Amino acid sequence: MKRALKSMSLLLAAALALALGGCENIKPTAKAQDRAVASMKPGVYSQTVNGMHEGMVVEVTLSEKRIEKVLVKTQNETAGVSDTALVKMPERIVAAQSIEVDVVAGSSRTSTGILEAVAAAIAAAGGKVEDFKVAPEAPKAVIAKEESAAVSSDLPAKWDLSYDVVVVGGGFAGLSASHSAATHGAKVLLVEKMPFVGGNSQINGGVYASYTSKLAAEYQKKFNLVPDSAEKHIADTLKGGDYMGDPKLVKNMVYGAPFYLDLLLDNGLKVRESLTRPGGHYGYRTYTTVNGVGSDIVQVQKKMVKEAGVKVMTETKMTKIYREAGAAGKVVGIRVDTAEGPKTIKAAKGLVLATGGFSANVEMRQKHVPALDATLPTTNHVGATGEGLVMAQEVGANTTQMSYIQLYPFANPNDGVLDAFAVIPFSGPSAGIVYVDVNGRRYVNEGERRDVCSKAAQDSAGFPTFSVFGEEIYRKGGFITEEQLAAGIKADRIFKADSLEALAAEINKRAYKGKSVAMSGAALAETIAKHNGYVQNLKDPDFGKRIDKGVMMTIEKGPYYAIPQWPSVHHTMGGVTITPKTEVQDVWGKVIPGLYAAGEVTGGVHGTNRLGSNAIPDACVHGYIAGQVAAAGTLPSFIADK
Ligand code: ADP
Repeated sequence: MKRALKSMSLLLAAALALALGGCENIKPTAKAQDRAVASMKPGVYSQTVNGMHEGMVVEVTLSEKRIEKVLVKTQNETAGVSDTALVKMPERIVAAQSIEVDVVAGSSRTSTGILEAVAAAIAAAGGKVEDFKVAPEAPKAVIAKEESAAVSSDLPAKWDLSYDVVVVGGGFAGLSASHSAATHGAKVLLVEKMPFVGGNSQINGGVYASYTSKLAAEYQKKFNLVPDSAEKHIADTLKGGDYMGDPKLVKNMVYGAPFYLDLLLDNGLKVRESLTRPGGHYGYRTYTTVNGVGSDIVQVQKKMVKEAGVKVMTETKMTKIYREAGAAGKVVGIRVDTAEGPKTIKAAKGLVLATGGFSANVEMRQKHVPALDATLPTTNHVGATGEGLVMAQEVGANTTQMSYIQLYPFANPNDGVLDAFAVIPFSGPSAGIVYVDVNGRRYVNEGERRDVCSKAAQDSAGFPTFSVFGEEIYRKGGFITEEQLAAGIKADRIFKADSLEALAAEINKRAYKGKSVAMSGAALAETIAKHNGYVQNLKDPDFGKRIDKGVMMTIEKGPYYAIPQWPSVHHTMGGVTITPKTEVQDVWGKVIPGLYAAGEVTGGVHGTNRLGSNAIPDACVHGYIAGQVAAAGTLPSFIADK
């Protein structure tokens, strides 16, 4: 939480700076206008006072009850030092109707001189100086700025469209939220800027972590696996994110994961007959969709959304969030750009933000992690640009952990894409897949987290690295289908050979982003033989990998296979802060009424590093919660019971 607090306090500091330095244009508060003030003789009162230097002439215009204007007519103050005070102090005094406003830091004598001039003018006009000694209430001043910064001053007089719940973004989170809101009685609109729903989710790896499911017992038996538990999934997730994730949000994800997976299965989702233990997980809990891609889930969610009666508008881009005035102001709707021009949409009960992350926005990601420049590819679709997050900030939302950005260690080295073949290296460690560098040597514990694997690849002997496996892993692991293997070989994403020496030759035949590799076949064969020994002895002295008896397999029998791999920018773990009910919070930790968020646009679920296959349950479960809370104000039983 330390980092989270730090980023929050930075924002708070920024907000305060704005509040204090930028509040001059705010209108006088109702309090200042309404309070009882002794009558003054209206007029312009010229007062000569001393600031840093002598002879500052200040003209003060007074009406019967108010300070209308303060103008420094002539002065000999020090240029560069006093300039701000000469402009800001008159503005502050008029805005606050007070002579006890804060002085401008660094030019207090000029400021004090102006305050004295106004006091003298009030006295000269027959007024009571005491009436204008209204101490500025510090938090109030901040809130006043918060209001002026956060709210939309231009709420539409009339809405073009009106729904109970509006969901923005059609990935896993948005599809789940809109289905949930509609099945909890709301009239729901889902808007998506791209020509189709699915977003990044569509092209994700289709791996789903769930400690149990309606298929768990059968798969555990088939693969000789120890049953998993919610407590273990929670513990692994927290540890995998260096304990920077919010335990309440992690619990939501873990408790809700089986509920939503079973819901998908009931609606026709097909998964492979496998239960894997990818990097950072110490329980067998990861399911892979039949085609190894997220679109398998998106297709099912689309069907569910349609059946629930959700109205879907594609090519509809949110450009603004409307929030009513006041610190407790409610989010009431959005503005969108459509082919027919801009439209305003009312969200009577709630707006669910499900706009995903910002991996495809180089400028934004570099703002938080300068090293993630344009030379690094991304696994994300072009729409992962993060503007939804910025719009939420514009209405006061807090963000957290924005610099936690994950690289996917096993993307296609040629283009950075996470295709179905790139999921095999991720699913394979528990079955015995081995990662080797350009010299045919292991460079990391294959069971490690994504951040560790990515860093190890970048620090390895060169570009790229490779996953290696044999016939037994392919046939018995369950996470590679026959069709997929054939398609991978055809697409030249998977290389096949009858011996490990020949496999190295296959690797060396290709160029990777124009670069060639000279792997020694003997070295590769030696690495694999050594690893086979480790699997048999259940001990990995080189990297300390956990080897489970009867689950991890050796690579002894050909044909042998290799898949090239390299890190690519994948998941932005930071985002808007939410409560366990998915309510978006402002920088003071208060809930912004009417605004909910779920999925990659939120921060704080995963901590420093998201464990692979936790993204889908996170997005789906929090989307489901958001939809239900926005529509009905209730919580799903999978968390309400906890
Ligand atoms: P998640 O996994 O959190 O659901 P995805 O990246 O899969 O996230 O989906 C987010 C979706 O939100 C994408 O389809 C993206 O095109 C859409 N989106 C992002 N910004 C906007 C916006 N301003 N207006 C409408 N849709 C948006």
